[in-house]
Order: sequence, then structure tokens, then C-alpha cells
Amino acid sequence: MEALRKKIEKEGQALSENILKVDSFLNHQMDPVLMKEIGQEFASRFQGREITKVLTIESSGIGPGLMAALELGVPMIFARKRKSLTLTDDLLTASVHSYTKNETNDITVSSKYIKKNDKVLIIDDFLANGQAALGLIEVCEKAGAIVAGIGIVIEKSFQDGGKRLREGGYQVESLARIGQLNVGEILFESEKEMHKA
Ligand code: 5GP
Repeated sequence: MEALRKKIEKEGQALSENILKVDSFLNHQMDPVLMKEIGQEFASRFQGREITKVLTIESSGIGPGLMAALELGVPMIFARKRKSLTLTDDLLTASVHSYTKNETNDITVSSKYIKKNDKVLIIDDFLANGQAALGLIEVCEKAGAIVAGIGIVIEKSFQDGGKRLREGGYQVESLARIGQLNVGEILFESEKEMHKA
């Protein structure tokens, strides 16, 4: 996705060899025009998969998740990272270790909103080691729903989440793939190959 790539090149900051900061358009301030395009791209990549629900995790998955759901014409659910006093229904839960915060949260989704045989598209902002996606898959499995695919805005392909999920048989679509990060330098997967040559 060209617009996303340009945005990462212009505004992304490699804080270390592992962490990319994109607070100006995805993780703090959100760019609605870019989010709309991201939603359209996800919808086109998962067209024909008969998606009935989009599932994401708060908070940074909500922007792209909602835009994808709008394009697909289905509801979006976000898993909560903290117990809510108003969430008193039967809960589907999974334990997720947060890559950036280095803490483990029990994520929860009400069983009211994901049902047996729902075809779920999982969306998240980043894919690193795959913990968030695996937690969301576990939630779907507990509901008896089918994971129809996984849509990621930015995949860091030097970490093993993508490999793990694809080997698990899931269709993973990432809109940008980062091959390497050095402090102050962002190399996309395609550039990493050129760098090596
Ligand atoms: P994973 O669960 O795949 O290990 O990590 C994905 C989650 O960690 C995402 O939901 C995202 O919030 C966060 N994350 C992982 N790597 C990065 C990163 O480089 N930058 C930012 N902003 N978030 C990240």
C-alpha cells in the first residue's frame, strides 16, 4: 500500500532495532483518510471470505478494524485489555503478553458478540511475535467461530509472528512489511533484500 509506505517513511521513527513508533498516524493521533484506505484494502484482500465480524484489540486496532468493518458491512468488536464493570455477560478470555508494555493481560470479549460459525476477520495495528493475534484466535476458538483471516497494518517480518501464523494455516495480509529496523533507519522487506545484494 503506497500511501502507508510513504507515511511510514515520512513519519515513522525507529526507536530501537525492535520498535517502530508511528504515533502521528496510527498509535496516538490517527489519520482518518489513511485509515479509510486501509479499511478498503483489507476489505478487498478478504473479499469472498464471507466475513461476518471483525475482531480487534483495544486501543490501536480499533481505527483500522472499524474502517475494515465499515467496508465489509459487518460489526466490529474490540477485545478489552482490562475488566470492565459494565461487561457482566459470559466472557471469552485469553491471556496476551504485550510486546511493547512487557505485561500480560487477560483480554475479554462478551460471548454475546461472537457466536459459533461466525466468520471472523482479525485486525491489528502491528504484528511482532504474534501474541495478540494468537489471543484473538483463542477467543474465536472458544466461541466456536471460524478465523477467516488476519489483517495487519504493519508487520515486522524479522520477528516470528507472521511465520507462526502462516504456518498455522491462517491467511495473513499485512499492508506494510518492515524487514529491518536500526535506530533512525527503517528498511522495508523489499529494501532489505536490496541492502543485502
Ligand atoms: P505481538 O503480539 O505480535 O507480539 O505484538 C503486537 C502488538 O504489540 C500490537 O498490538 C502492538 O500494539 C504492539 N507492538 C508490537 N510491536 C510494535 C512496534 O514496533 N510499534 C508499536 N507502536 N507497537 C508495537
